[in-house]
Parts: sequence; C-alpha cells; structure tokens
Amino acid sequence: NATESLVLRTTFTTRNFHGWGCLSVLPDEVARLGAKNVLIITDPFLAQSGLTKQIVDTLQQIGVSSVVNSDVVAEPPLAVAEKLVQFARQQNADLVIGLGGGSALDLAKLVAVLATQDGNVADYLNLTGLKILSSQGLAKIMIPTTAGTGSEVTNISVLSLASSKDVVVHDYLLADSVIVDPQLTVSVPARVTAATGIDALTHAIEAYVSVNATPISEGLSLQAIKLIARSLDKAVKNGNDRQARIDMSYGSYLAGLAFFNAGCAAVHALAYPLGGQFHIAHGESNAVLLYYVMGYIRSACAEKLKDIYQAMGFDVANLSAEEASKKCIIALKELVNTVSIPATLQDFNIPQDALDALSNDAIKQTRLLQRSPMLLSLQDIQAIYQSAFN
Ligand code: NAD
Repeated sequence: NATESLVLRTTFTTRNFHGWGCLSVLPDEVARLGAKNVLIITDPFLAQSGLTKQIVDTLQQIGVSSVVNSDVVAEPPLAVAEKLVQFARQQNADLVIGLGGGSALDLAKLVAVLATQDGNVADYLNLTGLKILSSQGLAKIMIPTTAGTGSEVTNISVLSLASSKDVVVHDYLLADSVIVDPQLTVSVPARVTAATGIDALTHAIEAYVSVNATPISEGLSLQAIKLIARSLDKAVKNGNDRQARIDMSYGSYLAGLAFFNAGCAAVHALAYPLGGQFHIAHGESNAVLLYYVMGYIRSACAEKLKDIYQAMGFDVANLSAEEASKKCIIALKELVNTVSIPATLQDFNIPQDALDALSNDAIKQTRLLQRSPMLLSLQDIQAIYQSAFN
C-alpha cells in the first residue's frame, strides 16, 4: 500500500537502552517521565522470580510507589486485556511498565493507552473494531525479557481470539522508553528461547522480502538475521552464553524495528490462526510455517533470499539467485530443526480436517497478506497448510 510504503517508521521519540545490566537506568527514566505512581504489568513467572520485587524496591528508594498486576497470560486472549484495562482504570497510575515477553508488553502498551480513554479493547481491534485511539494515555516503559517479539519498539498489540489473532495498531502504543537488557533473558528456558528467536528471525525475513521494504528496513533486517543466525543455537544450547544472549537481544530489537517499518506478511497471516485455534506459542507457529511459506513464495523473492542466505553466514559468491534461494529455504528448515521445534502441523496434533478453517481465517489477514511479494489466494494458503501438515 502506497501510503504505508512512503511512511518511514522510526522511534525517534523513544529513548532506547541496550546492554548487559542496563536495567539500572530504570529509576532515572521513571524520574525523567515525572512519574509518582507506577503500574507494573507482568506475568506470574516474572512476578515470582524476584525481578519484579527488585524493581518495586528500586522505585520505592526514589519515592515512587508501584502496583503490580501479574495477570498476563501467554498469547493473551481479548478477555484478559479487557480485564486488565478495567483494573488500570481503577488505579491512579501515571506510568505503566511492561515487564516480560511479548504477551506482557502488548498488554502493558494497551493498558497504558486505554487507562485514560473510553471503550472496550474490542472496539479498537484492527479487523472488527470501529474506534481509533484518541490519545497516547499514560507514559510507557517497556522492558523485554524474551528475545523475541520486538514488541518494545512496535505500535502493535496482538490479542488471541477464538479463531485467530487480531491487533490494535496505533502510534500511541509506542513506548517512551525501552530498556533491552539481555541479562534478563538468561533465565528463558531452551524451548522458549528457540521459539522467540525464530519469531525474531521471521520478523527480519518477512520485513526484508516485504513489498514495503526500504533500504533502511533492509539494513535492519540483514543485521538482525546475521546476529540471530550466528547465536540462536548457542543461546538455546547454553542459556548462560552471554554473547549469544546479547546478539539475540539486539537481533530481536532490530527485527522489531525492521517489521515496524516494512511489516510482516504471509508467515504471520498463516501463523495467527494456529495461535487462535490451537493455542500454539507464537514463535512456534511461525517456526513450523517458515519453511513452507518461504518455500512457496521463493520464486517471487529469490534475489532477496540470496541476501538472507549470505546474512546467515553462507558463501554465495558462485551461486545464482535461484540456487542460493533454494539453499536458503533449506537452511531455514535446518535451523528450526536444530533448535528442536517440531517440523509439521501434525507434530502439533493439528488434525487434517482443521486445515480448511485455518485457511479461511488466514485469508482474512489482508493487512499482512498484502505485503507478501507473492499474493496468496485461498487455494495457495490451503496448499501451504497441506504441505506443512506432514
Ligand atoms: P510470552 O510473553 O508469551 O512468554 C512466553 C513464556 O516465557 C511465558 O511463560 C513467560 O513467563 C516466559 N518468560 C518470559 N520471560 C522470561 C524469562 N526472562 N525467564 C523465564 N521465562 C520467561 O512470549 P513471547 O514470545 O515473548 O510473546 C508472545 C506474544 O507476543 C504473542 O501474543 C504474540 O502474538 C505477541 N507478539 C507481539 C508483537 C508486537 O509487535 N507487539 C510481535 C510479535 C509477537
């Protein structure tokens, strides 16, 4: 879409912190934003891990009070978002901190905006909602603990519905301050490290081949692919590998900025119904489809897949785009296998007779599908799910 391709998305107004231990900037950022009453939105694991208490104590030392809500659930359903917004409206908060994976950050962003305006979350959904957010709401600081979704730098909140997923999209969802401390990701278990890492890789790849890609988003994508390809397996095998965790945090952030600028596409369109209907973790839904979707659209983006293959660390000097793109697709499949994510829909116990319903929901994701370098029909989508089945 012409308008979208002409608007360069950046986070100029957002302050971004990176590096091992950079969580230490939090009190200064809270003070800078003039906050006195903070609402921390997180999930039960992080609430119990000691990290949340550490943040509450640190804020107390600078005279800032905080309320913690840890009702976040993974792949948050709309109902959880509605309840959190109601909770936030009863607080007297002036700043929201999102602490956790994409699920916590997406809810924190939404809650911060809707705390100060009317309506249900459902009113603002992209596919079915009729309202548009009218103000930026409370100040927001996002602290990702997975590497990951890139939610800390995007203007999107994703919610699970019965059939699929939908999003609230608005620049008011952008954070004021983003603190990406890779140290916080050390405790992420191997399976979540693998799934979230492939999610980030998928963002970078989909943004790179997107019809809306620009030289700027392409640079972000390629650097993200390089960092993720060299370090994902290491981070999965040894969560204490400091350099691998640093690479993954930068890779996830860069991939987030890349898709914020150029958009995700068909892999996400087909992954959303797997999340909605079968509650498969977002990263795993992307991982199981990545090879099949990219293989299907390969001929429409062969040159770009050659670049991706090179960014993954492979020598492309003597390869045509045709050869390199085929090798790239196989390398993606091997990477997903290496980090032990199941390779077929059947491995996730999805029955054959679910494929039609999945296809019928995927085709509704026009926002995503329109960015694919090959436009996919319902029949194409059915064929992709069928090939991913077994
Ligand atoms: P998540 O937030 O659902 O977390 C997955 C699991 O990891 C949870 O059990 C959580 O408790 C645990 N976890 C998180 N941090 C941990 C840590 N440091 N140590 C140990 N365990 C930890 O997973 P996610 O993949 O980060 O987020 C998925 C959600 O983000 C989905 O709803 C997806 O649709 C959404 N998403 C949003 C965007 C966006 O731009 N807003 C982009 C992609 C995905």
